[in-house]
Amino acid sequence: MNPYEIRKDFPIFSRKVHGKSLIYFDNAATSQRPIQVLEAIENFYRNQNANIGRSVHELALSATETYEASRKIVATFLGAKPDELVFTKNTTESINMAAYSLLVSGIIDRGSEIMITRMEHHSNLLPWVTVAKLAKAELRVVEVSDNGRLSMDDFYRKLSDKTRVVAVTHASNVTGVVNPVREICEEAHKHGALCLVDGAQSVPHMKVDVNTMKADFLAFSGHKMLGPMGIGGLFIRRELGERLDPPFPGGGAISLVGCEVDRCTAEWLSMPHKFEAGTPNVAGALGLSVAVEYLEKIGLENIEAHEKRLLEKGMEILSGLGVKLYGPEETRERIGVLSFNIEGMTPHEVAQLLDSEGIAVRSGHHCALPLVKRLGAPMGTVRASFYLYNTLEELETFGEVLRKIKILAS
Ligand code: PLP
Repeated sequence: MNPYEIRKDFPIFSRKVHGKSLIYFDNAATSQRPIQVLEAIENFYRNQNANIGRSVHELALSATETYEASRKIVATFLGAKPDELVFTKNTTESINMAAYSLLVSGIIDRGSEIMITRMEHHSNLLPWVTVAKLAKAELRVVEVSDNGRLSMDDFYRKLSDKTRVVAVTHASNVTGVVNPVREICEEAHKHGALCLVDGAQSVPHMKVDVNTMKADFLAFSGHKMLGPMGIGGLFIRRELGERLDPPFPGGGAISLVGCEVDRCTAEWLSMPHKFEAGTPNVAGALGLSVAVEYLEKIGLENIEAHEKRLLEKGMEILSGLGVKLYGPEETRERIGVLSFNIEGMTPHEVAQLLDSEGIAVRSGHHCALPLVKRLGAPMGTVRASFYLYNTLEELETFGEVLRKIKILAS
């Protein structure tokens, strides 16, 4: 796999930032998109645009076909069946969809327990806080160690027969730590609990198979995996999906609605349509399917191996500079995310100086305040996160710029 060849597909890399070549190390926030995805979206709106699933005219039928074909491509990529994939806006909406459907279906109820971890992005934390409050259920939080690994001892201690769902991230967006999600899901099932995996940071970077990991729900975002913004997915295991009521119902989700005086009832469509009320993001689904095909052509194993090389090099450079690194030292336990701090400067100051050299990173708490506080970084961290188009050469430049910043800070 040659990142220099891959970069030619990404128009954004031909632009300058502050007069410098763009070094884009903010991939955990959102990735860039290749020309194939951009063209597919434009082509949809230019030549095919119509609402789906309703009208019988040519454009509507062809748009519906495109939407369902996109679903099949994305579902197959995850080892799922097409009717197990609900298209959503993003990971946040997917997790809310799962949490509220467990609430409205009576699975999370008074006195039951919901398990999350201290490692979660706020999007896999706040929906559960709200649903726990509404149901009068109890929230249990699995702790992490000093360097950000999940405490499996604490997980086993806190899991109980009252646990209805375990919601855990596959990979941390702060430290890149990869969690043993299969073990977690299997253990959850032994206690009669369901298992939701937040795949926002794993699905774009490694081969993820819903059957191998034994998840009941898997949430992910298209924009972090070369796809457009505003499209994401929620895998729901079919037998479970058939049992659940949709929390956000409306047009397009029902087979029948009846109103007798002041009493209205509805019969839901089957999976996945009952979870997709309203007009969906058809062009987004198409763009995501093209992104998936792009990733598959390169191969997730190759992408993972490439990012591992970047991570190793990045860790070597940062340790050489003596900056404070967060997360475990072993790269095999991590995806390509590096969080660090330079003494004497805030994360935002470091990020601004990097930006002035054309290097885009994220700084702050990364929507994971409980974790950054636990790691001893209440002001947050600087985060560099890699993808298939990044190069070792870019890391060398990053290292040189950081060396100068470190001198300024001391
Ligand atoms: N979960 C994790 C682990 C993330 O890293 C993110 C985004 O950074 C999210 C959830 C939320 O994703 P989105 O903003 O696409 O909904």
